[in-house]
Amino acid sequence: MNPKADSALTVLIVDDQSTTRVAVTAELDRVGHRVIEADSAEWGLELFKRHRPDLVLMDIEMPGHDGYWAARAMRAAEPGGWTPIIFLSQRDQAEDIWQGIEAGGDDYLVRPVSPMTLAAKLRAMQRLLRMRRELVRVSEELIAANAQLTELSRLDGLTGLMNRRALDERLQVEIADARRHGTPLTVVLCDVDHFKRYNDSLGHLAGDDCLRNIAKLLQGSCLRPRDFAARFGGEEFALVLPETPRSGAMTYTRALLRAVERAAMAHPDSDVGPCITISGGITTCVPDEGTTAQDLLLRADDALYTAKLRGRQRFFSYEMQMDTLEQRELQRGG
Ligand code: GH3
Ligand code: MG
Ligand code: MG
Repeated sequence: MNPKADSALTVLIVDDQSTTRVAVTAELDRVGHRVIEADSAEWGLELFKRHRPDLVLMDIEMPGHDGYWAARAMRAAEPGGWTPIIFLSQRDQAEDIWQGIEAGGDDYLVRPVSPMTLAAKLRAMQRLLRMRRELVRVSEELIAANAQLTELSRLDGLTGLMNRRALDERLQVEIADARRHGTPLTVVLCDVDHFKRYNDSLGHLAGDDCLRNIAKLLQGSCLRPRDFAARFGGEEFALVLPETPRSGAMTYTRALLRAVERAAMAHPDSDVGPCITISGGITTCVPDEGTTAQDLLLRADDALYTAKLRGRQRFFSYEMQMDTLEQRELQRGG
């Protein structure tokens, strides 16, 4: 936005005749406008670029380039912007006026111009300028508000994590990327154990707090820049871990189980233990042409179901057909 006061304009006058410049300058000066003078089209263009005037008064016939040339060059020098250009000329034929407007002029005055006509034209241009600035301001605000809305529509209101929609989008991107590079992609679905009972015993608001804590914990577990957590829905969360093989996913989810354990959020009515626990399903693959986000989420959900059946507080890998407890035993045994 132009910070200049509404009433005073910076006017660039481009005219090779000093008598005209002096007369117009005196007149503009009298009504409080600031004037910059140029005696040629080339110099006018240069001063236009340097000073960004609010308005240009321009002669047409000048030695070297003419006023039409300068008007076109000025328009080209302010893409997206608009500075009113008024031609001032002795030529008074209809074709002259037409050509002036075609060249990018906004008005055309035939010399000699009475001071009152000049003042009136400036007033009209000033009004247009104000309206245009207001329009630009409003449309900038709209663009910002739109960007904010788009951002909000991708976030889950309760936890601030990505929502289901954003998850689907990002997951598709990661699938395509992993396919291209031939790298393993891991998707994990996490579900809070006996969360209905948690709500039933402590109330829905405490339940919301608990979900926010778990979201923070999951977010905190995303250490690599492309790992991300999302709220899948209800008390279920998804983790997407690019470049993570099966064994890495096991290690990752075991660390996650320990982190939840350390958080020690009391659960008054769980079969598993005195604190909140989570279960999860893991799927890991190097995606091929046919792999979809839906496939991965279904496999992870299938594995999650098995983790629940096996007693909860564990992650089950769809591909390894093994859970985190078994894997720990195996590692201890080996
Ligand atoms: P399981 O161990 O088998 O997962 O049992 P569960 O009770 O966690 O699973 P179930 O699907 O029976 O219940 C999920 C509960 O999660 C029920 C629902 O009220 C609660 N829930 C879902 N979304 C929200 C939420 O946004 N806030 C709160 N406080 N509770 C929620
Ligand atoms: Mg559930
Ligand atoms: Mg649950």
